[in-house]
Amino acid sequence: MHFPIKRFFSYYRPYLPLFVTVLITAFIVSGITLVLPLLVRYITKDVLEGDLSVALHKVYWIGGIMLALVVIQNLGTYFVDYKGHEVGARMESDIRSELFQHLQKLSFSFYDKEKTGQLMSRVTNDLFLLAELYHHGPEDYVKYFVRFVGAFVILFFINVPLTLAVFLFLPVIGFLSLYFNKKENEALRRNKERIADINAQLEDTLSGIRVVKTFANEQVEIHKFNRENLRFLESRRNTYKVEATFYNSIQILIQLITITVVVFGSASIVNQTLDLADLITFLLYVGYMVEPIQRLTHMSTQFQEGITGFQRFMEIMNLKPDVESQKDAVKLSEVEGEILINKVSFRYESHLAPVFSNLSLHIKPGEYVALVGPSGAGKTTLCSLIPRFYDVTEGKVQLDGVDIRKLDLNDLRNEIGVVQQDVYLFAGTVMENVRYGNSEATDEEVVAAAKQANAHDFIMDLPNGYHSDIGQRGVKLSGGQKQRLSIARVFLKNPSILILDEATSALDNESEGVIKESLESLAKGRTTIVIAHRLSTIRNAERIIVLTNEGIVEEGTHDALLSRNGAYAQLYNKQFELQY
Ligand code: ADP
Ligand code: MG
Repeated sequence: MHFPIKRFFSYYRPYLPLFVTVLITAFIVSGITLVLPLLVRYITKDVLEGDLSVALHKVYWIGGIMLALVVIQNLGTYFVDYKGHEVGARMESDIRSELFQHLQKLSFSFYDKEKTGQLMSRVTNDLFLLAELYHHGPEDYVKYFVRFVGAFVILFFINVPLTLAVFLFLPVIGFLSLYFNKKENEALRRNKERIADINAQLEDTLSGIRVVKTFANEQVEIHKFNRENLRFLESRRNTYKVEATFYNSIQILIQLITITVVVFGSASIVNQTLDLADLITFLLYVGYMVEPIQRLTHMSTQFQEGITGFQRFMEIMNLKPDVESQKDAVKLSEVEGEILINKVSFRYESHLAPVFSNLSLHIKPGEYVALVGPSGAGKTTLCSLIPRFYDVTEGKVQLDGVDIRKLDLNDLRNEIGVVQQDVYLFAGTVMENVRYGNSEATDEEVVAAAKQANAHDFIMDLPNGYHSDIGQRGVKLSGGQKQRLSIARVFLKNPSILILDEATSALDNESEGVIKESLESLAKGRTTIVIAHRLSTIRNAERIIVLTNEGIVEEGTHDALLSRNGAYAQLYNKQFELQY
């Protein structure tokens, strides 16, 4: 993938003044670090070996200067550590929020393909690594560049042969760093994969914990988890082994350099080409040269991880939503709710064969139609074309005579209420969940909607009434109660078109009765499409449409269809036989 450099750097823009200040401070701090040993050298060499009558005075002076420098150095380091990380964190936060906004825009087709766990790691872990790169990258570069070049120049001025001797070691350190760097990167990548595996396992088991317990399969899950856990342990062991070997090799080299400097330095003192003060200074500076090279490993790991994080971020940002609002969208003043499905074909991206082809259907404003047919015939799919969860492959869907692709997407979806078999509620209170239907609704409106959905009584029986917490995904409620909240949500939304997709299929007879009642009152005055599995529930529909794998094969009232003795009669009789 071509790396989007401009985009990468654009995130610095809002923080440029602050970040440049951080970099300048890092530069100054590194400069001070370089100067301090020079002052020591000045004391030991020029002051103490010079005129001793003024020496004490000079020592105090230099001590004062050193103290001032050390204070500046520490304040500077504090500023760099604090504000540098803050800049990184701010950039990370900007990018994360941009990514989340984009994820909200992406269409159903995207979520059909992606795994939640993986997306989560992109939003959290990947971006954290990116933030580290954003500020540490330039900071470390400034710091180590100044130290390395500075130390080299100073050493060169003190003693050329000794500097060259130290220099001979550097390629070895560089080579070792490169070698271990590669190994460490591989190890880290494996670590990440293993963590992802553990996360996937964890997510799967915990979301399905009720199934696990129902089947008494805790031991099976423990076994699966431990397997992942051990694999992770193994990969970490390997990482630590690589790191320990690496740091030790570098340590040995640093010791070798120190010994070399001591031996050759001392020999030079004997030969009178070097003095003791210079030797001490030399030893102090050698570390400054070695450290940056040693740090290269860490920096390049960080670089690589950050870049990968950014690329994974851009992969998602580059995806366009399949379904998007048109710019100069048509405004519908008053929605009547007439739906025209005109010669529509539709195929899911992942499938070769279309779910249906050349299908047409006209639903009048306020009409109550039922959609029936065998499982997998495409009833849910057909209904999902109306709110544009997916766009048609061919043909068009019209609302009040306007192609729905010409409408504003939010306007369109605000006109359509969907009640499904699977109810998704968010963690939070009853009030918050019902208000999801219309964020501007007052408490009184929420209560009124709950009453219409036959939910008010059970809500009042909850420990905190409307302010009761319903648990993650509403686990503290029964299936029927959850469904009633989801219906209240739609009452509050007040759409002109209603889609009831097997809304009562998962319920027991008793809740079904109560819910059917509220669904009927919800359907009043709205164009309604009911998908029902139990045909007894749709007997009174104005029109029943039978959808099979061949498309729409029959339509009419219950009695008319029964007397035709076709597909509907067959479906109906099959259920009749099953029941008795
Ligand atoms: P029905 O509601 O009539 O039972 P669906 O509309 O759910 O049928 O499904 C129709 C066909 O489309 C089925 O073959 C199903 O496997 C397929 N299908 C449904 N949803 C998706 C999806 N998100 N991605 C790919 N294929 C799908
Ligand atoms: Mg369905």
